[in-house]
This record gives sequence, structure tokens and C-alpha cells, in this order.
Amino acid sequence: MNTTSADLIVIGGGIAGLVTANRAAQLGLKATVLEQGSAEKYLCNTRYTGGTFHLCLREITLDPELLHKLILETTDGFVKDDLARLMAHGGAKLIQWLQGEGIKFMRASASEYHKWVLAPPGRSRPGLDWEGRGGDVLLRTLESQLVKRGGTLVRGAKAQSLVSENGKCVGVVAHHDGAAREWRARAVVVADGGFQCNPEMMEKYVSKQPSRMKQRNGGTAFGDGMRMAQTLGAAIAGIDRFYGHVLSRDALTNDMLWPYPYLDSLVTAGIVVDQDGKRYTDEGRGGVSVANAVAGLDDPLSSTCVFDQTIWEGPGRNGLIAANPHLLKEKATLYEASDLDTLATQAGLNAANLKSTIATYNAALSANAGTTTVTPADGIPRLSKKYKAMPIVKAPYYAVPMVSGITYTMGGIVINTHAQALRKDGSVIEGLYAAGAATGGLEGGPQIGYVGGLAKSGITGLAAAEHIAQRV
Ligand SMILES: Cc1cc2nc3c(=O)[nH]c(=O)nc-3n(C[C@H](O)[C@H](O)[C@H](O)COP(=O)(O)OP(=O)(O)OC[C@H]3O[C@@H](n4cnc5c(N)ncnc54)[C@H](O)[C@@H]3O)c2cc1C
Repeated sequence: MNTTSADLIVIGGGIAGLVTANRAAQLGLKATVLEQGSAEKYLCNTRYTGGTFHLCLREITLDPELLHKLILETTDGFVKDDLARLMAHGGAKLIQWLQGEGIKFMRASASEYHKWVLAPPGRSRPGLDWEGRGGDVLLRTLESQLVKRGGTLVRGAKAQSLVSENGKCVGVVAHHDGAAREWRARAVVVADGGFQCNPEMMEKYVSKQPSRMKQRNGGTAFGDGMRMAQTLGAAIAGIDRFYGHVLSRDALTNDMLWPYPYLDSLVTAGIVVDQDGKRYTDEGRGGVSVANAVAGLDDPLSSTCVFDQTIWEGPGRNGLIAANPHLLKEKATLYEASDLDTLATQAGLNAANLKSTIATYNAALSANAGTTTVTPADGIPRLSKKYKAMPIVKAPYYAVPMVSGITYTMGGIVINTHAQALRKDGSVIEGLYAAGAATGGLEGGPQIGYVGGLAKSGITGLAAAEHIAQRV
């Protein structure tokens, strides 16, 4: 077999892979990135990204002690203390390092969350809009930096297996130019973006019917890295959780309805019901949590968001690409009726149950005004901490059929603070690292805490590169 060697081989040319390779090359190493995509602008999640660098939806360069606490709280302690510390302390460093690479940021809105957004930002319009936008520019900038430093990005190289000797990872076999080829290195970094596009893995870990979800992503993450790492004994964590948003069900057939607008602001102000007209999840936990709950249903296409005029005209208008008016503009299904019986009939919901659900929900809200959590008679709690529950009282009433949109899987290969892959007993698999959405244990937990896809990728990429450079 044809063999090539380098100091490190990176599997995947998204932000995680290109940050790792560049930082390693900057520190004097010979870095090669294997990328399965063969197009000049191969697709991946980084190419499609909205571009906001944040931690737990807060500004990424805030006081690390505050961010550390926030990561632990958001993930209910699921993220280990040392990894939370790595993330909290790594944000400012990442931004500074990227700026040094020529990456430009801008503030996209007055919100603290939007302080560090890749420039140029996407236009405020529905549907995909990536060409010439922040993620696309970032990838092209980092690739050209890598080439200047003597590194290589090999397109059309699909990693298939890891090479190991005496328990140590020493290379990768990839399919390239119609043949299997071996790349030997002192370290291999898995940065393949997760497993959201692998139907078998999705069915095993995330949803009984993944085909009834919307792939809200670049369509390139098949879990190859996780599978390969497991053959070398790597532990995996947090793989039943994902980052995503709830979308209009019409996003399955209408490309103007994904990745934006999403329905989170409607969902978190109103209620989500199944076809029986009954609530089944706490909407107050946020859009990511609801997207996971929808995916977890026996039929992920059996969920509807119900709200009233006050919600439609209020929270419905929140966000850069708001549900109101974009659902109307893009002709998404939006049922509207002056009474709940008619609404239920239009939306195919059980009318008696829907009326009872809304009556008990409204009663619980008015009896417990001002409290953080109420539990209506249906027994499903409703949190009002970050997202205030609003009663459904003012006609016209609305219903939107939903689909769960998956952006990336939160779980994957367990790593330490140097991004080294670990076995179940906590020991290190020498020579094997993971970065970005391929990692596990940095997000998720019981309440599906979202920490941040771009931050996670960049910070773990820098950590991997610096450790490899130190070792080599
Ligand atoms: C629409 C959208 C909006 C988003 N907005 C934000 C945001 O505003 N803020 C935020 O923090 N996050 C956001 N994210 C998430 C963020 O973009 C991702 O978490 C991040 O880009 C992941 O980077 P990555 O390098 O791990 O994976 P990717 O960018 O997906 O890169 C992985 C690469 O690995 C390659 N690959 C896969 N398998 C193989 C193989 N076997 N061999 C070789 N190559 C392989 C793929 O082709 C791909 O190029 C968004 C994502 C999307 C889709």
C-alpha cells in the first residue's frame, strides 16, 4: 500500500481540523488534513455555520470563572470540571488566535451573545446562505494559512481505519484516488464532525425514526471517527443528545425553511402537543431540548406547536430571521382559527384534549403567576426561567406542524484537557486525539445543555495541536 508520513494527520477539514493543523504547523510540525469532500468548497457544518462564537449563549470572552460556572450549570455537571475549565479559559485565547490567522469578526446585534460573529455574516433571510459568508471565508483562510506553513489538505480522502501498534495510534488508512492509502504519523486527530448523518447510529442512539427528522447540517458527518476510535478502545459519552432546533415540518420539502427560520421562540412561549392534543415536554427548557424531545417520540412527525395572537405578534417576531413573518413569506403551513375546535380540526389534533390541555395550562399559569416552574394538571412541568410561559387566550389561535432539525450530535469520543482520546478506564490512547463535534463529554447532560459548537471545535483543536507539538 502507498504510504505517506507526517507529524500529525487530521481527519476532517472543518474548523476543528483546520485549527488543529494550523496551530501544529505554526509550532513547527508537518500537518496533513484528510478531507473526504472533493469539491473546492467541500460542504461541512463549518461551511454552513451561523458563525457566532459563544459559550452557553453568553459572550465567549467573559470572565473565565463565570463561564466555568455557567458550563457546569448549563450541563448539570455532566461536563467534567477540568474540561469545563478548558472551555471557559479557552474562549478568549481562541478568538485572539483566529484574529492572528486573519479571521475577521463583527458584532451582529446589540445582544451580548452576538459580539463575536464571523464576518461577513449571513444575510437576514430564510434558507441556506453560505457562499462568501463567515464559515466559508474562515475555511478558505485557514486552508491558505496551512499551505503557506507547508501543510497539506488532501481532498477526496475518506478515512476508513486507524493504524495501531502496541496500543498506540500511528496512522490512518483512507480511500483516495480509487485506492486505499496509508498515512503514518506520530499523532492522529479525529475531527470528522459527529455522526448525525449516519442512519444506523442515529437510530441506535438518538431517535427511533431518524428519517423523520430534518438534517439541518452540511450532510457530511457519518460517525467514521467515533467508529474507528472505538476499535482502539476509545470511550464514548453523551451520544444520545444533539444540538438542533425545531423547524416547520415543511422544511422537509421546502429549502427556504431551513436552517432558518426556526420555531424556538414560538415553542418556548406557547405549547407543544402530540396528535392527541396533549403536552409531553417542558417547552421552557428551550428549543434545543424540545428538538431532542420531538426526535425521541415514537413518531417524530407527530408534533405541533400551538400559540395565540399575543405570542405570534410578540416572541414570534424575535430573532434575526424570525418565524413571524418568514413562515408566511415562505408559505409554511400555519393554521389559524378563531376558536380551538376549528384549529384542532385543521391541524388534525384531538379537539377535546387540546381544549383541556390549554385550559389546565392557562389555569396553572394564572394560579402560579411569577413562579419559576408550574406543573399543570397534565403533570408536565413548565419552566419559566429563561423563556416565559404565556397563556394561550387571545384569538386567533395558531398551530404549526413541526419537525426536529438536527445540526450536530453533542456526544462522541471522550477526551482529556489535551484532547487525547481516553479508554473507559480513563487511560490515554497514545497518539489518538479528537476535536470538535467528534468529541463527547463537553456538552449535553440531563437537560441537554448547549455549550457551543464553534467554541468547542476551536478550543479542542488548539489543545490537541499544542499537546502534540509538545510531545513531538
Ligand atoms: C446552519 C448551522 C448554523 C450553525 N451556527 C452556529 C453558531 O452560530 N455558533 C456555533 O457555535 N455553532 C454553530 N453551528 C455548529 C458549528 O458550525 C459546528 O459545531 C462546527 O462547525 C463543527 O466543526 P467540526 O470541524 O467539528 O465539523 P465540520 O465542520 O462538520 O467538519 C468535519 C469535516 O470532516 C469531514 N469528514 C467526515 N468524515 C470524514 C472521513 N471519514 N474522512 C475524512 N474527512 C471526513 C467532513 O467532510 C467535514 O468536512 C452551526 C451549524 C450549522 C449547520
